[in-house]
Amino acid sequence: GPGDVHGEVVVLGSGPGGYTAAFRAADLGKKVVLIERYPSLGGVCLNVGCIPSKALLHVAKVITEAEEMGAHGVSFGKPKVDLDELRAFKDSVIGQLTGGLSGLAKGRKVEVVTGYGKFTGPNMIAVEGEDGVTTVSFDQCIIAAGSEPVNLPFLPEDDRIIDSTGALELKDIPKRMLILGGGIIGLEMACVYDALGSDITVVEFMDQLMPGADKDIVKPLHKRIEGRYENILLKTKVTGVEALKKGLKVTFEDAKGELTTDTFDKVLVAVGRKPNGALIDAEKAGVAVDERGFIAVDSQQRTGVAHIFAIGDLVGQPMLAHKAVHEGKVAAEVCAGHNRHFDARLIPSVAYTDPEVAWCGVTETDAKAKGIAYEKGVFPWAASGRSLSNGRSEGITKLLFDPEDDRVIGACIVGTNAGDLISEVALAIEMGADAVDLGHTIHPHPTLSETVNFAAEMFEGTITDLM
Ligand code: FAD
Repeated sequence: GPGDVHGEVVVLGSGPGGYTAAFRAADLGKKVVLIERYPSLGGVCLNVGCIPSKALLHVAKVITEAEEMGAHGVSFGKPKVDLDELRAFKDSVIGQLTGGLSGLAKGRKVEVVTGYGKFTGPNMIAVEGEDGVTTVSFDQCIIAAGSEPVNLPFLPEDDRIIDSTGALELKDIPKRMLILGGGIIGLEMACVYDALGSDITVVEFMDQLMPGADKDIVKPLHKRIEGRYENILLKTKVTGVEALKKGLKVTFEDAKGELTTDTFDKVLVAVGRKPNGALIDAEKAGVAVDERGFIAVDSQQRTGVAHIFAIGDLVGQPMLAHKAVHEGKVAAEVCAGHNRHFDARLIPSVAYTDPEVAWCGVTETDAKAKGIAYEKGVFPWAASGRSLSNGRSEGITKLLFDPEDDRVIGACIVGTNAGDLISEVALAIEMGADAVDLGHTIHPHPTLSETVNFAAEMFEGTITDLM
């Protein structure tokens, strides 16, 4: 075999959580070993998640904006899509970032061991690589093995049934495509394939798209895609898929129990992600994994075993890259002897659909469920000069305030670039800002960021009439 390796800190998995933890621990003077099954670092996020999806969403946005320019007196021809070149663009973005990571690892003398790692004891991982097994021993370990798409057991084996990874491969542009699951990942990929020319149907079991986000904020997105897509089916579940030569025959069951069928060229399954905690023999190190595959940790990211930490998707929701990164820093710093805790007040969520949907802190849905008192300031973008100039006025900026002291406790924003706007509110909440702080901060005009300022003023009552 390739021999034995020892790390003061060993990180299992090189996604955003894992590489962040590895680099931080190395910067703090630790000898670090990073174990990754794939030759390319960066995990789901860089290789088959956040980054490739955003590269394709950028292209989708340019296509749809060009299409819609017609309404403003400028028309372009029908787009000619060269899938090979589009794929090459996406792959080059991934390549630049993952290549960058390898350089950063080398620069810090982080030793990368390539292969599939499993615990063999409380201080040992066996890594099965192409040329044999490497035994990696450690003083401390950070588990960052991430998650993978949930599969539905009743689906047949067929290469026309794909998950997000398959969708990002861009094999072809199907004529009729079913998106099974109306969550963030499904709707982002729907946006891409719609722009590329597929006829999209979305099916969602719950009574709204993007379950969990506030209904009023999801509505503008729903309205827009309803106009572009072939069909959006809510309160409907898929009960079977039959792989026929002419297509995938899908059976739907609606809320009344009525069955219908329809045939698609491709089905994208986007019904959630499951943690990889159960696939690494964690119990051999004494680390408890729950029945779903999650590993429980304390506020220092420590598992029940004092020298073993866990971060990222496999410690729980929300499964987001920026949460994994933050947890990675906490774990690495605790490994290096610092007294750090995960004490972020909020983790923002963003769907990079068109329009984007973003929220952070307390949402109205949360507040109602948990009985949290709140008041709100809502600014409709139809009254924003910038959003009208963009030809896209369907947005809404909603801020939630604590009625006791007017501090901002949450925000939900829908509209173009909502994902970039949410950060200001995240900072405001972290810093304990109140409505006057947001209302008296001079925002540049005309920008979409003014809508945050205006929503605070709507709450304060310092602006009341909209145009
Ligand atoms: P992962 O990124 O899952 O990485 C885990 C790594 O561990 C992988 O490289 C895996 O190969 C490796 N590994 C696992 N087990 C082993 C083992 N036993 N041995 C060796 N290696 C192992 N999040 C956002 O915040 N913003 C977005 O825009 C966004 N878009 C997304 C789009 C898609 C299509 C998908 C699928 C996800 C998206 N996410 C997004 C979620 C984001 O990708 C994850 O939250 C993030 O990657 C989690 O990071 P992680 O470090 O926990 O693990």
